[in-house]
Amino acid sequence: MRYSGNNIVVTGGAGFIGSHLCERLLSRGNRVVSVDNYITGSRENIAHLEGVGGFKAMEHDITSPLYLEADIIFNLACPGSPVSYQQNAIRTIKTSVLGSLNILGLAKRTGAVVVQASTSEVYGDPEVHPQPESYYGNVNPTGPRACYDEGKRCAETLFMSYHLQHGVDVKIARIFNTYGPGMMPGDGRVVSNFIIQALEGKDITLYGDGGQSRSFIYIDDMVEALIKLASTPYRYSGPLNIGNPEEITMKALAHKIISLTGSLSAITTHPLPADDPVRRRPDIGKAMRDLDWAPSTDIEEGLMRTIHYFRQME
Ligand code: NAD
Ligand code: UDP
Repeated sequence: MRYSGNNIVVTGGAGFIGSHLCERLLSRGNRVVSVDNYITGSRENIAHLEGVGGFKAMEHDITSPLYLEADIIFNLACPGSPVSYQQNAIRTIKTSVLGSLNILGLAKRTGAVVVQASTSEVYGDPEVHPQPESYYGNVNPTGPRACYDEGKRCAETLFMSYHLQHGVDVKIARIFNTYGPGMMPGDGRVVSNFIIQALEGKDITLYGDGGQSRSFIYIDDMVEALIKLASTPYRYSGPLNIGNPEEITMKALAHKIISLTGSLSAITTHPLPADDPVRRRPDIGKAMRDLDWAPSTDIEEGLMRTIHYFRQME
């Protein structure tokens, strides 16, 4: 890695992506502090890391300042699923805006590299397909998803402003739908919902006609890209799309999961949530070129591993 020190802070370290990231960083010999208020994540997610040398878990809400030493900060703290980020919309905005200010202040004081977990949701319901980083997006600023979308957009602005005004070494990752073992049952995301429903023989809850699409990236591919992004040169700020361009409709996903689990579940349709994006697919040309990276896990393999994980939980 490019950076000299190995003290790493992962905010949101007890969440889905954060816990995988902590695990990978520890396996590379880094010292890792997870900073989390456990609003959507849990101590159980990181229980297996508690005994690992170099790991520390700190309970803290990033909307309050924090005082730590760090060489790299990954700012992942923020509820990630539409159900959880809409449950307390104001808290979600505070986490993205006040939380980012505190994390950027920490990076400014310590001189740390700071990677922001931004999102494909900054593109809203995109009118350009696939979405390149140069696309400014189509976001409803007052709709139910706005607390997340606009919060993350403001966070990107804050990151760039700290870079331009204070010279902070920032990196902005626009993360697309990520899935894999460790997803939290009950947070409403489509992959976990469908797999759990299929394994339990319950109806698969397809929203709308299922013609809407997403492009899913497997967790290991995501973590690898985030670590590579942290190692890019000082002037490299992003934003950078990180995702897997393999696009699939929700209807096709439902059928695939039924077939991979051998389930007898039926598919039932339900109203489409407001502002649900119709199509989403990343243009990852920049990430492939600049990080020398490409996602390597295809959807069937990734789903099989995720199904195995949820089977073990039953
Ligand atoms: P998650 O909800 O599983 O994890 C988020 C973690 O942040 C949780 O452990 C939660 O307790 C913690 N947290 C929330 N608010 C906090 C606060 N104010 N202070 C401290 N900790 C706080 O979500 P995830 O899927 O792991 O997502 C991680 C990050 O990646 C989020 O910032 C999310 O917006 C972003 N992201 C995720 C996806 C995805 O598909 N998973 C897609 C795009 C962007
Ligand atoms: N979805 C669905 N059934 C579910 C959960 C989600 O059909 O039980 C759809 C949802 O309407 C959206 C897609 O699956 O079109 C992805 O939803 P998710 O909440 O996982 O993530 P999003 O990409 O919308 O943030």
